[in-house]
Amino acid sequence: MRIANVVSDSIVDGPGLRFTVFTQGCPHHCPGCHNPDTHDPAGGREATVEELAEQMLSNPLTDGLTLSGGEPFDQARECAALAARAKEHGLNVWAYTGYCYETLLEQGKPDVLALLEQVDVLVDGPFVEKLKSYDALFRGSTNQRLIDVPKSQTSGTVVLWSRPDPLAHFTRPES
Ligand code: SF4
Repeated sequence: MRIANVVSDSIVDGPGLRFTVFTQGCPHHCPGCHNPDTHDPAGGREATVEELAEQMLSNPLTDGLTLSGGEPFDQARECAALAARAKEHGLNVWAYTGYCYETLLEQGKPDVLALLEQVDVLVDGPFVEKLKSYDALFRGSTNQRLIDVPKSQTSGTVVLWSRPDPLAHFTRPES
């Protein structure tokens, strides 16, 4: 697959410590994109799924894989294979895309659907500069959604992901 870069210890592309793959090639050309070097599909470098999986699994502290870009869904087959390796080893999978979730479903491409099957949270939609926000959790602009893909697929409607409350099981001691 064609990649721009990997970051093996990201804490900004989803919860916990993440292995993030920035895929190379993006057709969206969002004005204000912070990764313009990833747009050219001929740029970056080749990497095999096996090579990336080995690197991803070399750190036992890693919580998850994030597929970012570039546009991961334009290399859906390879991304799905890497995501499957992550899942086999108990890692969660997040993916960023400039496409809307509904568009990916409507297109019905087998490789895209196979990748969606592996994704826990999809951050969808293009980056919109006028909606840019530093407060938007794990997103660049507020139009982008954090979609809980398994729940959305089960219910047939978009279900947004929300960060689990770390104190949910904490009971305040009686005073
Ligand atoms: S989808 Fe992402 S990488 Fe592609 S142009 Fe938009 S912001 Fe940049």
